[in-house]
Amino acid sequence: MNVQEDRQVCWMQSRIREDEITKYMNNGRDFISDEEIEAKVADRKEPDPEQVRDILAKSLAVKDLTLDEVAVLINVNDKGLLEEMRETTLKVKLKVYDNRIVTFAPFYLGNYCVNRCAYCGFNNDNTTAQRNVLSEEQIRREVAVLAGEIGHKRLIVVYGEHPKNDVDYIVKSLETIYSVRVKTKHGHGSIRRVNVNAPPFCIDDLKKINEAGIGTYQVFQETYHKKTYARVHPADTIKGHYAWRLYCMHRAMEAGIDDVGIGALFGLYDWRFELMALVQHTQELERRLGVGAHTVSFPRLVPALNSVIGPDWPHLVSDDDFKKIMMIIRLAVPYTGMIITAREKAGIRNEAVMLGVTQMDASSRIAIGGYSDCVTEQKENKQQFILGDTRSLDHLIRDLAGMGFITSFCTAGYRCGRTGKCIMDLLRSGTEGKFCKLNAILTFQEWLDDFGAEETKRLAQPLIEREIAEVKQKNPKVLDIFTDYYERIKKGERDLYL
Ligand code: SAM
Ligand code: SF4
Repeated sequence: MNVQEDRQVCWMQSRIREDEITKYMNNGRDFISDEEIEAKVADRKEPDPEQVRDILAKSLAVKDLTLDEVAVLINVNDKGLLEEMRETTLKVKLKVYDNRIVTFAPFYLGNYCVNRCAYCGFNNDNTTAQRNVLSEEQIRREVAVLAGEIGHKRLIVVYGEHPKNDVDYIVKSLETIYSVRVKTKHGHGSIRRVNVNAPPFCIDDLKKINEAGIGTYQVFQETYHKKTYARVHPADTIKGHYAWRLYCMHRAMEAGIDDVGIGALFGLYDWRFELMALVQHTQELERRLGVGAHTVSFPRLVPALNSVIGPDWPHLVSDDDFKKIMMIIRLAVPYTGMIITAREKAGIRNEAVMLGVTQMDASSRIAIGGYSDCVTEQKENKQQFILGDTRSLDHLIRDLAGMGFITSFCTAGYRCGRTGKCIMDLLRSGTEGKFCKLNAILTFQEWLDDFGAEETKRLAQPLIEREIAEVKQKNPKVLDIFTDYYERIKKGERDLYL
């Protein structure tokens, strides 16, 4: 072993703190009981329609479902009942989140990784992957495109697990991203909220990340099923430690991070199991730390270079099951944000809007340095996987407008302290919608003026007018301040929010 390899091994060994796992466990056991979940989903009998309708009514009242209720919905296969589920899903979505979709862009900063996840193009065994970690100057260049040319306000930054992108690199990169301010057609553009998708950290490192001013901290468990987890994450890697990953949101909340995002990589194991476990995870966070997951992600496995998971893998998820997964998440945790990424194709992403999804990325490039290098073609050896939807942000916004949805660039919640338990309580009670609607209109208008194509503006303007009419009717108390902000934005002032 040379000196560099030796250092890397030391670094890896210092990552996992057993005491920051065991303190949250119950008599040495974690909160995912494989046997209990397997037993609950073993019965595949079509449920009684009245029982299903009672569960749907509970979701519509914005109440969390129990694990048993989730298991009942999983077993619905009757076409008529599935249609009732679909209708209720949309009603729940509109009740809690109205007709808004929040957009963001993924921003990969480094693809060096010490882990060897069987499904990921960045895994350390993949010698054909081109590795890179962005310098400060390269980060500035990327953000200039993201905020100055595309018009994004919200990013999810993504890092592999490696000493080259450790916590100090992450903190520095966040500072750089927030510092970039670019001139736009009528005002200026900048990134206002950065969410982080990174490996699990210890509490001290999570405190540093929190102090850098992040939105949501996301870590996906990938699979909650322990045997499958061990099969796809070699035991001699950091990621091979199931419980270190499972408890990272407990540590994040203890470190002061208010909003956490959980997820499972659907396709690794039986989707029914993963869905139940995701619900169990958010319930555990709520019970132990007072607030559940801020967002749930449900990435579905897509091909990656040198991935050992091929078309014969037994648990790949069909489109129909994937749509059912989305519906059940919406119904099980009615007020939790749901993210669908451009891994999926445009058609299914459009359908997802009607199935409860609240956040989507667009104009996404996931090659390191991909936003500023002007290469539009996707390259397997530069990306973690191949994207299914390469629509531009303008194109997505136009498609959403055609479906009656407005695109929100609002980042106010996080900057006004409406985070964590506060935002979850507001969403549950339906109060958050009031702020969100106003800020959605303001930020949408801002984006259209700076970045919208003429055709997009033509489609979006009637929507904005309809939204403003609704504010006049339902929220007259704030009309004066809202109108003042709206007029100022039309004149080129930026970043006004309520
Ligand atoms: N290295 C960090 C980690 O593993 O937590 C950052 C995450 S990785 C860059 C982002 C997520 O992409 C992973 O958590 C995994 O769920 C997902 N992912 C990896 N390979 C994938 C594939 N082939 N298809 C779809 N999603 C994949
Ligand atoms: Fe590394 Fe994350 Fe890819 Fe695993 S999923 S190999 S940890 S980048």
